Amino acid sequence: MGVPSVFLRTFGCNFRCPSFGLHHNEKTTEVLPIIQNITNYKSYNDLPLVKSGCDSYAAVYPEFKDLSPMLTSEAITDRIMEIIPHNEWKDEHLVITGGEPLLGWQRAYPDLLNNSKMKSLKEITFETNGTQKLTPEFKSYLTKWNREVGKELTFSVSAKLPASGEKWEEAILPEVVCEYEEVGTVYLKFVVATEADIADAECAVGAFRSAGFKGPCILDASGRSRKCLQFKCKKCSIGSYETWLALQ
Ligand code: SF4
Repeated sequence: MGVPSVFLRTFGCNFRCPSFGLHHNEKTTEVLPIIQNITNYKSYNDLPLVKSGCDSYAAVYPEFKDLSPMLTSEAITDRIMEIIPHNEWKDEHLVITGGEPLLGWQRAYPDLLNNSKMKSLKEITFETNGTQKLTPEFKSYLTKWNREVGKELTFSVSAKLPASGEKWEEAILPEVVCEYEEVGTVYLKFVVATEADIADAECAVGAFRSAGFKGPCILDASGRSRKCLQFKCKKCSIGSYETWLALQ
């Protein structure tokens, strides 16, 4: 069952994931004409949806940056207070997503979270691609935040398999993800559509487990064949894969 959540989307990503929704080795060309006609759009809200590549492209390609608002921490907290039911945090979670929310934004979060309006916030989830090391300063800040009574920190790591179009050696970084486990709860999620993707996911899980990763590993077969969901890991020494089908 879900929980009420506020999504804060940051701008910028180190990846492009050009092959999502396509056959392996194909790359999306959908964003190019949108960039060429960018003067037709006044806000990121006006941009069209795409069927291939990154579905959050408006928060990824620098060409779209001026279509997104640049807000101060104060303005962000004011906006959140406007949209949550009691104008203060109750049971709502804060989900910080992107783009890739652990890029340079790590420097900005303490200012945001120290704002008096964020004091009663209890749960934060970072939706990350798992490639960004935590800076020592931010790691120490998060460790203290997570130690406060009732607070909970989660890293939802969507590690990118070759089906995304990203390179394995740049996308599967077990030592980075293992460090997140020193600070909060971590789970890994792999988008799969074919048996080859499942084999890649199995290989990636092996690499993460070898590095000491202990959290759950989830196959995200949303919108794909149920065949994916019949898969059970035979090699994982910690436990079998949990499978998850996002309801559409
Ligand atoms: S890592 Fe996520 S936000 Fe970045 S390009 Fe890939 S799908 Fe998009």
